[in-house]
Amino acid sequence: MLENVVEFFKNLPEKTCVQCGKKMEEQSECYSHSCENCNTI
Ligand SMILES: [Zn+2]
Repeated sequence: MLENVVEFFKNLPEKTCVQCGKKMEEQSECYSHSCENCNTI
């Protein structure tokens, strides 16, 4: 079931967090590939 969710997000043109798969806001262009929750570096 989790794999289906991953594929679902991969097919989306919108940016998603590569770590948690959460869809990120379009305004988060400053973030590389992670959401603010994962982008703790
Ligand atoms: Zn994340």
